[in-house]
Amino acid sequence: MPVEKHVVALSGGKDSTCLALMLTEREPRDYLFLCTPTGNEPEAMFAHWRKLGDLLGSPVRPVMHPGGLKGVITEQQMIPNFRARFCTRILKIEPYRAFLALNTPITSYVGLRADEEGRAGGAYGDIPGVTMRFPLREWGMTEADVWSYLDTRSVTIPRRTDCKWCFHQRIGEWYLFWSDDIDGWLEGEAIEAERNATFRSPGRDTWPVSMKGLRDAFEGGRIPKSVEREINPIRQSGACRVCTL
Ligand code: SF4
Repeated sequence: MPVEKHVVALSGGKDSTCLALMLTEREPRDYLFLCTPTGNEPEAMFAHWRKLGDLLGSPVRPVMHPGGLKGVITEQQMIPNFRARFCTRILKIEPYRAFLALNTPITSYVGLRADEEGRAGGAYGDIPGVTMRFPLREWGMTEADVWSYLDTRSVTIPRRTDCKWCFHQRIGEWYLFWSDDIDGWLEGEAIEAERNATFRSPGRDTWPVSMKGLRDAFEGGRIPKSVEREINPIRQSGACRVCTL
């Protein structure tokens, strides 16, 4: 009879970070700590995963689609958008499902809180040999509790933990991406030109839809009003904009 494994998938957001750290204190055992990067996260996100590995005493191992976001865009021959969110399924959900199915019996711990009753965790309980647990809910942890715990551990969460090209981001986030990482920006622009499509959907706001148009506007001195709010956010959850593993 194989020994049961225990896995915590770390999106990098506050809830899964808190969950992993608390589990090692409250229920010490051998855990596997995983992340499902798309390869398009900001460098600060990878630094966060490395730091967490040090704190947890075990590295956070990536489980990912070999091509990452860029490769999936090539495979699908299209840029993901609000209506076609294949990126989350292919880059996060399917690799994690495959990992679980290959490692049964296994318990998967998910960082859903007690104050988000309506929110569903990833649907993996249907895989034979997989048990799902939601310890933050079991422990009655609210968002305020999570932040308070992270403060006691002096753990901060990166401002952006999702994809740099995510179609879901706000205009102020696009501005900060442009000002922080022009190489990553130009790579996104090249993909838009190659695919003759855009990451942003038309009609969301009064800004240009394409990354090239946005760059022209930013270089011309136009600054989104929301930038200040993005730099000093009310504490955010982070992680992929769409999925909870
Ligand atoms: S962060 Fe955005 S682009 Fe990246 S996988 Fe999630 S929904 Fe897709």
